Amino acid sequence: MRGYMKRKKTFILAALIVIFLFLSACRGGGDSGSDGNFSQGETSVTESIVAAESFAGMDSFAAGTESSVMAESFPMTESLAVVTESFPVMDTYVTLTIHAEGKEQGREILEEAKGKLEGLERLWSVTDEESELYQINHSDGAPVTVSPETREILSFALDEAAETDGALDPTIYPVLAAWGFTTGENRIPPPEEIQELLDKTGYEKVVLDGEQLQLEEGMMLDLGAVAKGYAGDMLEEFLEEKGITSALLDLGGNIQAVGAKPDGSLWNLGLKDPFGEGVFASLRVKDCAVVTSGAYERFFIGEDGKHYGHIIDPDTGYPADNGLASVTVVADRGLLCDALSTALFVMGRERAAEFWRERQDFQMILVTEDREVLVTEGLEKIFALDRNHKKWDLEVLRP
Ligand code: ADP
Ligand code: MG
Repeated sequence: MRGYMKRKKTFILAALIVIFLFLSACRGGGDSGSDGNFSQGETSVTESIVAAESFAGMDSFAAGTESSVMAESFPMTESLAVVTESFPVMDTYVTLTIHAEGKEQGREILEEAKGKLEGLERLWSVTDEESELYQINHSDGAPVTVSPETREILSFALDEAAETDGALDPTIYPVLAAWGFTTGENRIPPPEEIQELLDKTGYEKVVLDGEQLQLEEGMMLDLGAVAKGYAGDMLEEFLEEKGITSALLDLGGNIQAVGAKPDGSLWNLGLKDPFGEGVFASLRVKDCAVVTSGAYERFFIGEDGKHYGHIIDPDTGYPADNGLASVTVVADRGLLCDALSTALFVMGRERAAEFWRERQDFQMILVTEDREVLVTEGLEKIFALDRNHKKWDLEVLRP
């Protein structure tokens, strides 16, 4: 499959976040974020596991069957039709569910949405020789004119790279490739090789001036940390233009909630347990993005027996390994969530908490390797540990 990175299909299909929806338990109203007004603890483990199983372990992208579980759990209102479409794109597995005026109209809209995602794949695949990113990565130091989409995502990624002090770095690609994460032929590169490749990275060396982009010779970009976030925002905008006010978009675990459920109640998301199959917590939201980064889906076990994940610490050139098992970020924009979930994972617990206190424009959930859960204050009322995970330590971070 063409895409940003080759992943094992089973890993693609094990969605980071599993969605489950209550047919009856959810009550209406409430906001996402700090001022939600509803009680905790109405999680339904069985429903979440059903949804989880419908994703895990599937080995083909055969049409439709897997999505029916979710589609059926949507509340049907008399006037709106629920339409769901699942397909592989951008090296991940996407499930889009919308409430439309009618089935036919809904299907047409989703068909168009799929085409838009395929368009982004054609722009940003690192392996497709026809892609814009491939041209950029093989420009040998010459300036190139880029599309408005590439300009937008890259300018955002470079800004956040500076904000995060390089924890996010879209120029990490040469190092990532040396670890074999782009081909699936994983290896532990010798330290000298890593040092040499690190010289070919550094977001501050990228020159982006309007539509003109110039990389130093040997430098390469990878938008894998932000592309799905961009895609989520783009689809949300597209659906709103089409008059869709209620939809749930799952882009390989990047969730984008468009509006609330048709009856006004919140979407109930299951957050996948980074150590196991099920979910460890639920989060009730509307109108926002929820994005998780972790090293439990795409990783390899080295000859030394150690676990190496696909998120690289740009300071060292080694996979980030600082005690975090997963980071979930909640904010208005998918792009911001995606950029920050990757960066915070690199930063580790202390720096991430400090960064959140400084920025305050997002909320987050950190899960440590020791099974401690840190939740920022704004999520306190909409987050609940699953009943099988009540023993995990839960701490609320305050400003
Ligand atoms: P996922 O794509 O699994 O949802 P992320 O959004 O965290 O997870 O993106 C991880 C991807 O980003 C990696 O597969 C790689 O392509 C790229 N990447 C890895 N480390 C970094 C980094 N420090 N900065 C920017 N991109 C990175
Ligand atoms: Mg990301």
